[in-house]
Amino acid sequence: MNYTIFGKTNLNVSRSAFGVLPLQRVGMDEAIRLLNMAYDGGINFYDTARGYSDSEEKVGNALADKRGKIVIATKTPSTEAEGFWRDLETSLKYLKTDYIDIYQFHNPKEVPLAGSAGYECMLKAKEQGKIRFIGVTAHRLDNAEKALESGLYDTIQFPLSAISSESEINFAKKCGEKNVGFIAMKAMCGGLLPSAAPSMAFLRDMDHVVPIWGFQRESEIKEVLELEQNPPALTGELLSDIEKYRSELAGNFCRGCGYCRPCAAGIEIDWCARMPLLLRRAVWQNFMNDHWKAEMNKINECTNCGMCKPRCPYGLDTPQLLKAALKDYNEFCENAGYK
Ligand code: SF4
Ligand code: SF4
Repeated sequence: MNYTIFGKTNLNVSRSAFGVLPLQRVGMDEAIRLLNMAYDGGINFYDTARGYSDSEEKVGNALADKRGKIVIATKTPSTEAEGFWRDLETSLKYLKTDYIDIYQFHNPKEVPLAGSAGYECMLKAKEQGKIRFIGVTAHRLDNAEKALESGLYDTIQFPLSAISSESEINFAKKCGEKNVGFIAMKAMCGGLLPSAAPSMAFLRDMDHVVPIWGFQRESEIKEVLELEQNPPALTGELLSDIEKYRSELAGNFCRGCGYCRPCAAGIEIDWCARMPLLLRRAVWQNFMNDHWKAEMNKINECTNCGMCKPRCPYGLDTPQLLKAALKDYNEFCENAGYK
């Protein structure tokens, strides 16, 4: 495993971190096994959130005995005092610790600034030794830029991968100039990149950038640990792959972040809106079954209530995207001989 000093936090973190969100989908025993497998492979940085159901509890159960050797980042969606303290105490309890290394506001609509209730709570929690560093996560570039310009945040978490736009990459570089640690979420672009290698190679140039790989399976951890043995370089071949992915994924596409949920009609928007890409970039046979047919058909029940669209941080016209995805899915099924 390779390590880096994480911006102004001075924390020595593994260059590959564990994004704990997907562990919500596995049982407690399996989660403990996977977390320990990552730890044994040298991963010492774990990013979770109050909002990821039982993920904090899984981290606490798996790694409490290694507390001094790991860096824990978690998040609160609350920017008001009552919710902030309730979340912080709950996180400490489930993580089985008395401090959190990096405490982040979880994708706030407006980044809390000095003097706001939320930021004052952060300062107080730091004074009390309950948190060590203050971070924020953002999906919108304007919000992330606001956080950086404020000079109030030790870390910023933002989507970044080998196929990010020039403005997103420039933003990451600006964070480096200000020595702000950059936690890169969605380094595999929500499962649309075929492996971790392109983003690992692409991001490695920036010492202050650490991707949090969302692990749910042993094979995913193994892939990253193996790559860390001999980190991929941005060679001609990898560079041309990256160019290819960029042109294939150009334009407005659903990143699968799920911020538009819940849907009033029960549509799994983050999966269904991505279906055209999943059919072509993942194992399409996995989506040719009664379960996915039924999920996709729910799109017919969209009432155009308009609740999802303003929640999309990428400004996508979600209902339109879903209708196009259903049309494409039905055509794909027909061509594949699946009725
Ligand atoms: S507009 Fe359609 S897809 Fe969006 S929340 Fe409403 S019912 Fe769901
Ligand atoms: S439509 Fe937007 S908010 Fe919803 S999952 Fe896709 S990218 Fe995320």
